[in-house]
Amino acid sequence: MTGAASGPAIGIDIGGTKILGAVIDSHGTVLEEHRVPSPGGWNEIRASVTEVVAQLRQRFPSVVAVGVGAAGMVTMEGTIQYSPNVLGFRSAPVRSELESAFGLTVTVDNDANVAAYAEHRLGAARGATDAMVITLGTGIGGGIIVGGKMLRGAHGFAGEVGHFQIDPDGPMCACGERGHWEALASGSALGRMGRAAVASGDAPNILAAADGNPDAIEGRHVSKAARAGAPDALTLIDHFCENVATGLVALANIFDPTVIAIAGGLVNDKELFIEPIRVHFVGHIEGADYRPIPAVVAAELGENAGVIGAAIMALDACN
Ligand SMILES: [Zn+2]
Repeated sequence: MTGAASGPAIGIDIGGTKILGAVIDSHGTVLEEHRVPSPGGWNEIRASVTEVVAQLRQRFPSVVAVGVGAAGMVTMEGTIQYSPNVLGFRSAPVRSELESAFGLTVTVDNDANVAAYAEHRLGAARGATDAMVITLGTGIGGGIIVGGKMLRGAHGFAGEVGHFQIDPDGPMCACGERGHWEALASGSALGRMGRAAVASGDAPNILAAADGNPDAIEGRHVSKAARAGAPDALTLIDHFCENVATGLVALANIFDPTVIAIAGGLVNDKELFIEPIRVHFVGHIEGADYRPIPAVVAAELGENAGVIGAAIMALDACN
């Protein structure tokens, strides 16, 4: 990294259940972590973030900036307008209030954007001028890099890739619309597909993987049965991977990236997920025989991508 601020910086990841803070150097190395439960309202969250930052600065007084990533719609000014999962975020002026509290440069961005920022700078999408980083978790998060820069839109809300409609008659999405990509291809969607298959009597091995409790079935039970070679689970995962690929194809036809990195716990199993996603993707992208096919790869930075990206984004803002 060049410029005056060589770090370290603190990256903060505000999720629905926890706040994770980490001291990160300019190479993206995690030097120290501190984690507390995530309380309800913005006043309580602010108090917890302030405590986490104070603890980390005591150990690392040379910290020069704080970057925050949070699930939700974040404006260019660093106000979190709305988050479906963190109820405290309703027009919360996160950046301005934290900057006053810390006396440091503070950046705030969407959790998927900071994860994409990390993968673009240091991980699976490094060196690409045009890339997409797609996180398959409870929902689907996305960061889109166009011409070397994060796509932000007019207000900062661009890249909400989970919320376009694939099937008007499909399952209800968390946002209240029907058949969005997120409702068909997130980690939660795989669990829902598993429960539906069991309810129709077609998936005895998936049921067995959840110890016979049909209501307890989650995506990980489907994966577990598939890893053991169960045909019902393998069929379901192939269908799920096709759903993932359908959305990727739509986005790739629009943005023409060179690399698509897939993040999220479910896809750590590359053979089970990444490879079939890639096969379906290649099968459907426009003009496959007449274009360079975007590489579909697993993300590299794992669960720390959020805090790493938030910290590096804050360091970059100092330079
Ligand atoms: Zn939606």
